[in-house]
Amino acid sequence: MPKQLRGFNSNLVHAGEHPDPTTGSVIPPIYQTTTFAFPTNESMLDLMEGRSSGYIYTRYGNPGYSTAEAKIALMEGAASALVLSSGMAAISTAIMTLANAGDHIITHADIYGGSFGLFHDLLPRFGIETSFIDVTDLGKTESAIRSNTKILFLETPSNPSLRVCDIESLAQLAHAHDIKVVVDNTFATPYNQKPLEFGADVVIHSCTKYLNGHSDVMSGVIVGSEDYISECTNVFRKLGANLNGFDVWLLIRGLKTFGLRMERHNENGLALAKYLSTHPKIAEVHYPGLPEHPHHELAKRQMKGFGGVLGVEIKGDQEAVNNFLNRAQLFTRAVSLGSVESLITQPVAAVHYSVPEKYRELGGITTQLVRISVGIEDPEDLIDDLEQALA
Ligand SMILES: *Cc1c(COP(=O)(O)O)cnc(C)c1O
Repeated sequence: MPKQLRGFNSNLVHAGEHPDPTTGSVIPPIYQTTTFAFPTNESMLDLMEGRSSGYIYTRYGNPGYSTAEAKIALMEGAASALVLSSGMAAISTAIMTLANAGDHIITHADIYGGSFGLFHDLLPRFGIETSFIDVTDLGKTESAIRSNTKILFLETPSNPSLRVCDIESLAQLAHAHDIKVVVDNTFATPYNQKPLEFGADVVIHSCTKYLNGHSDVMSGVIVGSEDYISECTNVFRKLGANLNGFDVWLLIRGLKTFGLRMERHNENGLALAKYLSTHPKIAEVHYPGLPEHPHHELAKRQMKGFGGVLGVEIKGDQEAVNNFLNRAQLFTRAVSLGSVESLITQPVAAVHYSVPEKYRELGGITTQLVRISVGIEDPEDLIDDLEQALA
């Protein structure tokens, strides 16, 4: 684990940072290069054979990586981290490092639509089968375990239903059967939840969301033990899932204000959840920070705050959803989440469009469900906009 300061924000600003050794530039340059020069042919062989460290080709790594990785590993309390070109690159690399043909995975239906597609459509072609079950039920999870189960893949709070599962109990169950626990911590973020402290083996993020936070970079990260991350590094180089020099530079810039942004996302998320939960046009608000959320007590034990994503069930049909979304002015109609600006979307219209009906039902992904990602604007403006959109 990199050297640690006492405060969360201090680490975000300082971990992995050093002035550029050649120019003294306080902010490191963007290493916008594909390839790196070697003084001699022998020095290239030294690097290949592990006698020296450095860079050779950007698909293998770029100098910005270690700065971003140091910050994220510290936040998650992990030994090591690997940044990649997207959240999906992180998930596919993390899974392909752990699973082989003939293996079995357990997960739930209310996960990110892209992750669902990976497990449901792509992995079966490589002989890896997945069961989609209700992981909020420990008994059902235990019954789903087979002799070839290798991975329990969790997303908590889940996308888009905002259900919360018990990482600690599930990790105990999984480890008793020699199963690795991988947690997609994108929604919660390490500001609010640290899955490794509850026994998870691996954490992944779409850094496209809160960690970068400005809707301008695709990126992902895997965190875990040093040995596991080194295995992931070998896999990701073969898959070509590298992050480029400019994007990692933007990610580093975004990470420095991550803690401050999360404070505001948490406040705004709770304020909007409270406001919407009493609105006559709203049937239900799914937000783990509300006392009436079925997993509120668990969420309080597992999370420090509850983030900026809300699932909101509108009263009425598709037309009522269209009207609400079309009238929104400050909330932008767009997929994605975790950025400084507020976004609104109907999951079945895009992110979960390809999830088959039976899995939508299992995951609570209804037509009436609208996903709101609350930004860092002032809550009074956000509430004004929701008020007029619902009027
Ligand atoms: C967006 C997202 C992903 C995928 O990340 P990309 O950066 O879009 O590849 C995975 N999991 C969750 C929870 C997400 O929100």
